[in-house]
Amino acid sequence: MKVFLYVMDALRPDYLSCYNPAETTSPNLKEFCQDATKFENAYSTTTWTKPAAASLLTGRYPRETGTIHQLDAFPDFEFTLPSELSAAGYETHCISSNLFVSEQFGFGDFDSIDVLQYDQSLHGRRKSLKDPGKQEKQMLEEVGVDDMIVPLSEDIHARVKDAIGKQADEFFLLWSIDTHGPYFVRGESSYNGNDKSDFIFEKDIDKSNMDHVKDLYRDMIRYNDEQFGNFISYLREEGMYDDSLIITIADHGESFGDHSKFPGYPIFGHTDIVYEECIRIPMMVKYPNGYARGQTIDQPVQITDIYPTVLDVLDESIQANNLSGHSLYKSDIAVDRPIFVESQITPSSIYSGAIRQGKYKYIKIDKPLLTGDGIANFSRSLVRRLWEPQTRLYNLEDDPNEQTNLNSRERTKTTALAEEFDDMRCTLERASVSDEQEQADITAERKEQLRLLGYSE
Ligand SMILES: [Zn+2]
Repeated sequence: MKVFLYVMDALRPDYLSCYNPAETTSPNLKEFCQDATKFENAYSTTTWTKPAAASLLTGRYPRETGTIHQLDAFPDFEFTLPSELSAAGYETHCISSNLFVSEQFGFGDFDSIDVLQYDQSLHGRRKSLKDPGKQEKQMLEEVGVDDMIVPLSEDIHARVKDAIGKQADEFFLLWSIDTHGPYFVRGESSYNGNDKSDFIFEKDIDKSNMDHVKDLYRDMIRYNDEQFGNFISYLREEGMYDDSLIITIADHGESFGDHSKFPGYPIFGHTDIVYEECIRIPMMVKYPNGYARGQTIDQPVQITDIYPTVLDVLDESIQANNLSGHSLYKSDIAVDRPIFVESQITPSSIYSGAIRQGKYKYIKIDKPLLTGDGIANFSRSLVRRLWEPQTRLYNLEDDPNEQTNLNSRERTKTTALAEEFDDMRCTLERASVSDEQEQADITAERKEQLRLLGYSE
């Protein structure tokens, strides 16, 4: 069998036609949904790529994998999704256009891994992050980076076509950043009238250009969707569609000022607080041979469920013990199953964690005070710490956009969920595989590349 795990980075479900009928961004994914089971309430375990990738490939939470902060390397697990598939006789491939999903960060557990930023044949043919302005160019020169490109999903598909078919059982992790910042028209032309030369980094989003950024994001989704449609057509033409297990998913969402840091300072991009816009993800599973096609599941599920689901569909027993994820294949999913998320980029960044149970979501926020990092940074961290309520409770049924903090009105519920959150965090901490977390061997150059992708304070 062929198994495709197709990750669309930083993709919010409410910008997709199959989750929001008001959107016209994604006719191909909408069509794909007719053959798949669609999960309405799917969640990541975090707000950014690396810990989400670790959850996807281990079936565990970031605290268990020890992959929380930016420089944490994904530890050497005995069992991962690719290693279990390999033991079951599958040839495993990873084709990634996100630098976090690379051998350097510990994701080398595949028979082949291809990180497209390192592919010299794409340089000059793909948008370079040094292009947009003089200031960025100067900065890149200072840190000694020649070029940093944004590969496209069509590059990923070309690689799949080269690699596929060597044997009957093959697994492909395909990681596309078409829908990740920086924001610009990915294809030959814009779908909704954006200028091809427009280019906006995540760090440059503000209230004045936010609507434009949203339009560019829709354009990026449209391009990604068209390419996904081409990929599905290819699988059909090759007779590989019906029998394959195809999972489309995002690693996390994206914020377009849905919430603010302080009054008047909206949050953009991802990596900040675990609000719904950053943790809810699209998830569609096309099982082989039409099983559960066209179904919609409302119960909450999480990215950790993918690992056991894949092995269950393939009728392979799971070697790993005590996975946090549960198989979704032919399974009953509890309505009140807890959803647990955490996010913190560096030890000095804002920390946020949440637990959702039924319609209620509790959020815990902690902003470390930045001492020894200049008076301006100290002041900012103090203001945010004072302004930001540390404890929040939302009723997602009545208030899906998390606008009304019920913390003081529903103290009993808040206290109960806070205890549950703390208990779960402690349990996961005890299960952590890496007490002495290894730091990834990351060069200054790579740090700068990641900064350009929006991963820094
Ligand atoms: Zn990501």
